[in-house]
Amino acid sequence: MTRFFTRPAVWAAALLALATIAIIVYGGAFATRTYLDQAESRGQTTLRLAVAVLRGQMSRYQSLPALVADHYDIKALLADPDNRDLRRKADSYLKEINALLASSDIYVMKPGGDTIAASNHDGPISFVGENFSYRPYYQDAIQGREGRFFALGTTSLKRGYYFSAPVIITGQIKGVVVFKVDIDTIEASWTGDDYEILVSDPEGIIFMTDQADWLYASLLPLTVERLARTEVSRRYANAKLRELPVTQASSDSGHQLMRIATDNGPREYLALAEPMPEAGWTVSVLLDTAPARAQALTSVAAALLLLGLAALAGTILLERRARLRERLEMQRNAQAELERRVEERTADLALVNQQLETEVSERRATEQQLRQTQSDLIQAGKLAALGQMSAALSHELNQPLTAVKTYAENAEILIERNRIAEARDNVSRISSLADRMAAISRHLRNFARKPNEQLGSMTLADIVKDTLEIVASRLKTAGTEVAVDLGPEPLTVKAGQIRLQQVLVNLISNAADAVDGQAERRIELAARRKRGKVTIAVGDNGPGIPEAIMPRIFDPFFTTKGVGKGLGLGLSISYNIIKDFGGDLAVVNKLEGGALFTITLDTASSERREAAE
Ligand code: ADP
Repeated sequence: MTRFFTRPAVWAAALLALATIAIIVYGGAFATRTYLDQAESRGQTTLRLAVAVLRGQMSRYQSLPALVADHYDIKALLADPDNRDLRRKADSYLKEINALLASSDIYVMKPGGDTIAASNHDGPISFVGENFSYRPYYQDAIQGREGRFFALGTTSLKRGYYFSAPVIITGQIKGVVVFKVDIDTIEASWTGDDYEILVSDPEGIIFMTDQADWLYASLLPLTVERLARTEVSRRYANAKLRELPVTQASSDSGHQLMRIATDNGPREYLALAEPMPEAGWTVSVLLDTAPARAQALTSVAAALLLLGLAALAGTILLERRARLRERLEMQRNAQAELERRVEERTADLALVNQQLETEVSERRATEQQLRQTQSDLIQAGKLAALGQMSAALSHELNQPLTAVKTYAENAEILIERNRIAEARDNVSRISSLADRMAAISRHLRNFARKPNEQLGSMTLADIVKDTLEIVASRLKTAGTEVAVDLGPEPLTVKAGQIRLQQVLVNLISNAADAVDGQAERRIELAARRKRGKVTIAVGDNGPGIPEAIMPRIFDPFFTTKGVGKGLGLGLSISYNIIKDFGGDLAVVNKLEGGALFTITLDTASSERREAAE
């Protein structure tokens, strides 16, 4: 929200305040003026209408007095005022035409002002015998003029308008005829909601109005002269005159306004007036300004409301814009934050990457070092193996050599002593020792195998048959046989014939060694096809392989047999041969006792034949 109070918002608020003041001050005045104008034009119409009605009423009765004055009966009476018959005649005539013309009263006065005939001669209030010489209408008429006068009847105490005319007989004024016209009916038609019609005399005294309070009240200050003038004509008989309680009279942009105290508090009126010179009156219309002011107030309120609505709309618009700005700002910030985070993360990743690279290079170096160490170790192992081999070889060869030397020396001596038979025995011993050394050499040759030899599809049964022939004498010595089980179907394996024979010879020889000394000696050779592979298992019922040496029995030169009995190369060479065939050689101890060596080889495709070994 703080953003809302920005510079434009402050300007807008100032503008709004100015507009509010302008509407209240100028708009209020303008609206008041406009509605007063409207009221005034309505008032003017009312005023014109009122004046027209009054004029019409007056013109209606204006010429009647002269007409009556010219009547024979009237003239006759005035010529002989005391004649009772003539009076009666005149009375009935006046009554008749009064009824006909709907006037209030008609009466005839003789010079001096005494009334001698009247339309109301037989009514409760009769003018007959009354003297009205103080009335201006009498004075005008007796002087030969037509008279007009408004007054409150001194006898009837009824307001009326008086028309008078002289009665002229043979050029002389012999009397006066007066028409009194009732004004109550005119006044009764003036009732309006928001206006008052009043008629005031030249002294400013209101004598016609439907506001009972205002009757005989003066619009002008009641000065002594005015009071005196009114007193002379006894215009208002004994009615009490007073000033109209005007508390304030002002003029506002061409409108005459007056505030009059009423029982319900002061009320303001717009005053319009039109003089009626022919009657000496002023007709006024007083319009209550309350409706016009209320309308003006309503207009101002509506304008303020509109302004308020516009301000509200503006505020909403500004707020929405501010919100939008805020949202955009937030989005920008979020974007910046995101970018910053991405940058941070990128930097982190770069760092991690760098670390990884360092680690990788370190790992590589370590690996390199490891390889180096490994190759060093291998080298060392090789050297150790070579040393071992050399020791074993020298041990294996020195023994027969020493023996050969001893036997040769002995044979020499025996020959010198001519003990030929014994000498021959020695020589034959030399020969058998040479055989043993040749065997050692053969083993070593086999150890230096040729890995480039091609492998072929070999019939397992043939190989087993050849093998058994080779080991026959060894088995015979050991006093045992091999139980062969090659399964129901002929098996072919991918191998080299001679080398596979060599492996089988090794395993069977080891088994024969193992069962040596057992009461019942058993060696088994079983082969089966299993999931595209052929397994050849060679088992015996010897002591088995102690767990402690299990991991080492495939190592070169590892042997548990005594010097001169085993070289410790058999299993090592066999293992390598089987690996060369792409197969596997493993060993387990059987539960019932004895070792079980298992060769796993690929089955050969029938068309392929092994090339020469
Ligand atoms: P050598 O037979 O010359 O000792 P080998 O590599 O063939 O060398 O055998 C290594 C060792 O494995 C043997 O010394 C022997 O301890 C053990 N061995 C091999 N075959 C068997 C077997 N069938 N039963 C018990 N031990 C065996």
